[in-house]
Amino acid sequence: KIRAGDQIAGQEINSFLSLADERALAQAARIDAMAAKGDTLPVLAGVPVGIKDVLAMQGAPATAGSAILKGYHPPYDATSVAKLEAAGAVLLGKLNCDEFAMGSSNENSAYGPVRNPRALDRVPGGSSGGSAAAVAAEFCAASLGTDTGGSVRQPAAFCGVVGLMPTYGRISRYGLIAFASSLDRVGPFTHTVADAATVLGVLAGPDTMDATSAQAPVDDYVAESAKPVEGMRIGIPKEYFAEGLDAEIRAAVEKTIEDLKAQGCTVHPISLPHTQYAVPTYYVLATAEASSNLSRFDGVRFGHRTESPKNLSTMYRESREEGFGAEVKRRILLGTYSLSAGYYDAYYRKAQQVRTLIARDFLAAFEQVDAIVTPMTPTPPWKLGEKTDDPISMYLADIYTVAASLAGICGISVPCGQTQGGLPIGVQLLAGHFQESKLLRVARAVE
Ligand code: GLN
Repeated sequence: KIRAGDQIAGQEINSFLSLADERALAQAARIDAMAAKGDTLPVLAGVPVGIKDVLAMQGAPATAGSAILKGYHPPYDATSVAKLEAAGAVLLGKLNCDEFAMGSSNENSAYGPVRNPRALDRVPGGSSGGSAAAVAAEFCAASLGTDTGGSVRQPAAFCGVVGLMPTYGRISRYGLIAFASSLDRVGPFTHTVADAATVLGVLAGPDTMDATSAQAPVDDYVAESAKPVEGMRIGIPKEYFAEGLDAEIRAAVEKTIEDLKAQGCTVHPISLPHTQYAVPTYYVLATAEASSNLSRFDGVRFGHRTESPKNLSTMYRESREEGFGAEVKRRILLGTYSLSAGYYDAYYRKAQQVRTLIARDFLAAFEQVDAIVTPMTPTPPWKLGEKTDDPISMYLADIYTVAASLAGICGISVPCGQTQGGLPIGVQLLAGHFQESKLLRVARAVE
């Protein structure tokens, strides 16, 4: 059930930034020819897919949602993009996102906000808002997003689709425009958990072009995820059900836990004691890494350069001043500060140490349980514009996503109901490093 191309372009949801007509038509013709010859078709043959605009796709622009990359056409494919196409997928084009993947509402894009297809006055979540919205609106059957601190899982919850954050290193980051390299992951959006398992099977695996991609064996995720969950141990961390959690979301997640019990899972209260430090730790580390990664956008090598600068240093300064948006500048300043001599020990080093404590919380928990169940977001999607003047309240909305990011473990957001007003609710499932098979098995049991 996919809409035609003319319904995708120029639509009010604003999910696609560019369409890759030529490449899509050529691939579709290739698949048609294979089918006509009676060849065995690859697993994603003819499946229409969209790509978040932070991933390189040859022949298409890559803006990262930023004005500074306007006009940049990468001359190569990201590994994840190439793998999708090799598996038969038809790549429709590039999807809107927060600038350099910084945001939780997709309102930080230089190309306008994305609207939530389930409620047009609401945000789709971010930063992969375009990727979540395009699947929810049935413009494509799957899409790629990236999750640094929640950017696949949270928009999936807000748009009522499935969003998978694989273990750090599970999918190659080659060809991804870096935000915070120690946290960035590529992950798929799909309508169902089985589809997420299929796409993960295509994308997972080592890549000689990404030194952080892992050698860990790739499972048959579709078969593994279809196994029953009877006897699995499910952890419920008390820190995720504290003050500030919306009552309807709490009720929907509690109902999901009851469903798992009914299928033979045992439920165990657990504690992740350093949870309260996750948001500040994440925002120190992510901004520090971003300030370093974004230094390459200097008006020389890519994208925007200021017109007739007086000298070299004004060329750098003015190109960056004109090209970056407000949130990106705020983060470069924050990150530069925490990395500077005199503040490094108090902020950056301290945050690295707390990151280790947060990761150990999860390692200890996964000695007792197979998977963890939490709410995905503290509130349903908010109205466009509601939080744009208050960056701190936007950062605090990431309270349930960033700890798992810091720990490098895998997680998934699965729809688990809706509010009385019809807004989607997502439940978050977490599992240990490279435990995607277990994660997807629990996910299929709750969908
Ligand atoms: N909302 C978080 C941030 O703004 C996460 C973004 C992401 O995962 N790319 O940094």
